[in-house]
Amino acid sequence: MSPVVVACRSVPDTTNDAASAGSGRSSALASVPAAGNRRAIAMPAHLKFFYGPMDCGKSTLALQIDHNHSRQGRHGLILTRYDRSGGPAITTRVGLAHDAIEVTDDLNMCQLVRNRWAAGQRVDYLIVDEAGFLNPQHVDQLAELVDEYHVDVYCFGLATDFRSQLLPGAKRLIEIADEIAAIQVEVLCWCGRPGKQNARIVSNRVVREGDTVVVADTAATAEVRYQVLCRAHYRSGELGNGVEADQLLFG
Ligand SMILES: [Zn+2]
Repeated sequence: MSPVVVACRSVPDTTNDAASAGSGRSSALASVPAAGNRRAIAMPAHLKFFYGPMDCGKSTLALQIDHNHSRQGRHGLILTRYDRSGGPAITTRVGLAHDAIEVTDDLNMCQLVRNRWAAGQRVDYLIVDEAGFLNPQHVDQLAELVDEYHVDVYCFGLATDFRSQLLPGAKRLIEIADEIAAIQVEVLCWCGRPGKQNARIVSNRVVREGDTVVVADTAATAEVRYQVLCRAHYRSGELGNGVEADQLLFG
């Protein structure tokens, strides 16, 4: 573990000295703790949600944030749900990978962290990939970890499903997270416009009904696959590559 350097500086208590009393500021500042006292107050933790369409680099950012924290001597847990590799791991399209804890329906996030603490393991933060697929109660447990246990939580995931409706985990995160940010790596539709919709394609046709979660890849050869489309082409069903819209909609 790398040493954590804490800068210490003594701050003289000036609330009763003649200068501040004379200026009349002492009463206004009386309830403000001196700067040094901040070390006695737990730093607030945060629940953050980074979202974007497929292929926008969410998992890469998740692993980068984990790297940045661990380099400063912090310890985290990495969780995922339905990663495209099918195993408990975060895999990225640029080739990075990291073992991860698979989030199951009955996993309690608070209990998970408490168990690690009981076993003597330090946990300062959680990285949760594919957080759109969490249940709302998972997200509530993450909020409890932040508020009651001061564990930082970074969530990454899709906001909407193939029907362009909010995923349950994303919906709850948007409702209660401290910070919500769209990932700024733009993914383009085949037409060149920004892609926002995660279309599910079965036999070269955009489908709009079915199970919320069907894990597949974005490789163009798969029978069930996903493709990022702009809103106009999600609506029309045109996929580029010379495939006609009426064939897609009525074929
Ligand atoms: Zn388009």
